Amino acid sequence: MITYEEALKLVDDNVEPLGQCEARLEDMFGSYLAADVVATLPSPQFDNSAVDGYGVKVGDLEAASPETAKALKLVTAIAAGSPSDLEITTGEAVKIFTGARVPTSCEAVVMREYCREESGNVLIECATRPGENIRRQAEEYKKGELVLNAGIKITPPVVSLLASLGYVQFPVFEKPRVALVVTGDELVEPGQPLKEGQIYNSNAYGLTAALNSLGIKECKSLIARDTREATRKCFEEALESSDVVISSGGVSVGDHDYVKETLEAMGVRTIFWRIAMKPGKPVYFGVLERGSRRKYLFGLPGNPVSVLVTFHQIVKPALKKMSGGKFAAGSTVRLKLGAPLKKRPGRLDFVRGILTRNEDGDSAAVATKGQESHMLSGLARAQIMMHFAADAEKVDAGEPIDVTLINWAD
Ligand code: AMP
Ligand code: MG
Repeated sequence: MITYEEALKLVDDNVEPLGQCEARLEDMFGSYLAADVVATLPSPQFDNSAVDGYGVKVGDLEAASPETAKALKLVTAIAAGSPSDLEITTGEAVKIFTGARVPTSCEAVVMREYCREESGNVLIECATRPGENIRRQAEEYKKGELVLNAGIKITPPVVSLLASLGYVQFPVFEKPRVALVVTGDELVEPGQPLKEGQIYNSNAYGLTAALNSLGIKECKSLIARDTREATRKCFEEALESSDVVISSGGVSVGDHDYVKETLEAMGVRTIFWRIAMKPGKPVYFGVLERGSRRKYLFGLPGNPVSVLVTFHQIVKPALKKMSGGKFAAGSTVRLKLGAPLKKRPGRLDFVRGILTRNEDGDSAAVATKGQESHMLSGLARAQIMMHFAADAEKVDAGEPIDVTLINWAD
């Protein structure tokens, strides 16, 4: 059995980013940039006002105060979106709105809150300094400057930024096409009546939701009954139109576990099988070269907690790398343990937990109730996964422990 760290390295070594395509602004959210973003325009594009107020000459307001408001002649008003090459001279002011172009003759903009209008004049109750409330052309970046590097995830601000530069579409990495194969004679679709010994197929729905969270919207989901033939037929069908096939169940050492032998019989090269982690020991990873494309196969355990924990800790980083992002198994921080943990040494235990505060007011990690691999409620309530080291037998309350923040979306 290999360690979790070794498994991660093997996945990273074997997974490559997929191809690139152009995505429209409306569709790019959640993908990764396939090219650097170089400014097509400076930001801001022109000097403009940061507030609603009055454009003035600084010297006119040197003595202005709430007691001695200074009256300036109001020349005109400039709204956002209108051009302005207006000149003001000493003793004059121009009414100006947020985002409106500030004429070069205005040295500062005084906030409206310090001003009041009276018979063609504006009375201003404070002094100002050169440049106050003026957003300067190109102060954020110049035209031609590198703004964002390729490889970053397209979040809402990235979409806004591309739109602000006038792009309609932009190069992104393709998202992997994924298909699911859940195995088991006992599985029944939710909504159908259950017979003795049967259970609902929950894994297909949890995995689909996990893929949707990553922006992988469509994925075929097949149920393979526990025979060699059915297992092979489902994997063949799943492979037809996908880059990645994720299966659940049938990958352990039971008499009805056909996933590994079926995949190997189909020509899949096994990279690893079995990891010293809990939950999730029987995880399988293999690759298949089909035509010009490489296909990836993840055989995850059937237990409902194991399948989602191994997806989060192993498959998600792989999908991220295929999508053009950095291979990373989530953000890990070090926290104090809120209540003691015990186990047998041998496997890295991903203890599902929540964040609380201890008596000192520090953040502390506490395990949720229901830590067995069939107990979904403990995972459903969890915010974090604590890394209870493979060789450790106990960690006392107050001792530090590495914690991964559960994040299905990244
Ligand atoms: P297996 O690895 O196939 O022996 O499955 C391990 C456990 O996970 C068994 O209790 C199965 O009933 C359960 N299981 C397998 N597949 C699913 C599924 N799709 N939904 C819910 N539970 C499952
Ligand atoms: Mg099974």
